[in-house]
Amino acid sequence: MSLNPQEASLKIKFVIIGGGIAGLACSFALRNSGHEVVVVEKHDGEEKTEGCVRSPPNMTRIMAKWPGMPSFLQTHATRCTGLSFRSSRTSEPVGFMKFHERIMDELQAEFLVIQHDDLRRQLHSLCMDAGVAFKRGKAVEIVKSSNGVDITLEGGEILHGTMVVGADGHNSFVRSLVMDGEIEPEHIVSGQVVNISIPTDVIQQHEDLRSLCKDNEFTIWMGADSSITGTLDAKMKMFNLSICSPSPSHSIDGDMYENHDFSYLRPFDLSGYDPRLQKLIRLGHGCRPTVHKVFAQEDILGLNGSIVLVGDAAHSILIHGSHNSSMAVEDAVTLGRLFSHLSHLKQIPVLTETYEELRQSRTNAARVSEYQALVQISLPPGTLQEDRDAALRLTLDQMFEDFENCESSDLLVEAWEQYLILFSHDAVEAVDNWWSKWSFTIKA
Ligand SMILES: Cc1cc2nc3c(=O)[nH]c(=O)nc-3n(C[C@H](O)[C@H](O)[C@H](O)COP(=O)(O)OP(=O)(O)OC[C@H]3O[C@@H](n4cnc5c(N)ncnc54)[C@H](O)[C@@H]3O)c2cc1C
Repeated sequence: MSLNPQEASLKIKFVIIGGGIAGLACSFALRNSGHEVVVVEKHDGEEKTEGCVRSPPNMTRIMAKWPGMPSFLQTHATRCTGLSFRSSRTSEPVGFMKFHERIMDELQAEFLVIQHDDLRRQLHSLCMDAGVAFKRGKAVEIVKSSNGVDITLEGGEILHGTMVVGADGHNSFVRSLVMDGEIEPEHIVSGQVVNISIPTDVIQQHEDLRSLCKDNEFTIWMGADSSITGTLDAKMKMFNLSICSPSPSHSIDGDMYENHDFSYLRPFDLSGYDPRLQKLIRLGHGCRPTVHKVFAQEDILGLNGSIVLVGDAAHSILIHGSHNSSMAVEDAVTLGRLFSHLSHLKQIPVLTETYEELRQSRTNAARVSEYQALVQISLPPGTLQEDRDAALRLTLDQMFEDFENCESSDLLVEAWEQYLILFSHDAVEAVDNWWSKWSFTIKA
């Protein structure tokens, strides 16, 4: 199944560093445009990852067009009916942001939650079927230019590519090569997330905990200086919690492939949370901490456009938020669609500049929106928190069951405007619009 109007008339070799969601989605999109693609991933692919990623409509819409994806999403994704806001102290409902059917119908895609491991494996088999090559269990050590890019793998093997895509995550090694010659990009720590997965059969043994795990709902416990989100996976085998704080005082990072002990929770004050939630957290078999960093993403082109970044390597959107994976998938199709037009090597710098131009306004908007949302759900006690709760309580009013009535609430109108800007974007259409206006400037 070809998703591009054409395969590139000039086919080049891409080496993708990192086989996470961004690297895999990007490999598929570039392969689909006719290019040769090799993925280098430092993990061997056998390990099972834990946790769930969110697929908002802008991501679901893209993936639903990929081969085999509709049936995969049907069986492996949980469809969220809305966001349930709860008091951190008592777990009592404070508000419910319903994903109204009328809006979701117009968006032509659902807000889904998918196990990270399931999505990663599905994308991997999609890439294999498309003819992407893999080098697993190899970390990349050096990238340097010589008529293209040379990549030295652990152990000394050298790969050559016309272009390199850095898809190596939030602590990206490739990013340091494309940030104006600096080894480490200037960054500030701006938050911390810890992920915990608890088997549902363990939860079932505790009667007091069962009511905390609602299916089809994305639950948010709004604490002071932190918040906790919770969601069940589609097979109802795991309940996944993310403890998030916008506070820069927390700063312990870990490898998301490994579970670490609960000492990583120490920076968080969880004493104000519902004791049942505290008990639930301790039933997890470890936790996966991530430090969230913000870095400047301007001037992110390296070696005259022969290195680009995608996903968490390219932008500092909150990890474990609603848009970390969606922006990775948008990056992938933006790059893939642009490079389906490649007909001459001279066009590469223009296509990579256009890639940055198209994606940066999106990722900046998502970063700001996600950070503001985290601040809102982590407000300390006081007037701001009271005002937020009073506004959210309106959503529990039966009158807002019907979308038509939401227009009478400024809060809901504002919230929906924010959501729609992010949810309704079509990354493929954005490239096609650009191409129809500007292709004459680069056509040979
Ligand atoms: C194991 C794991 C579990 C996750 N769980 C969740 C979750 O539950 N919820 C959520 O919202 N987000 C989760 N994420 C993060 C989420 O996947 C990303 O925020 C988003 O999908 C963007 O993905 P990415 O591919 O840019 O980055 P990542 O998912 O971080 O992937 C980067 C990949 O690059 C590889 N890599 C890094 N350095 C090198 C190197 N030098 N050479 C070769 N390979 C390298 C890493 O091993 C990794 O596989 C998880 C990520 C991982 C890796």
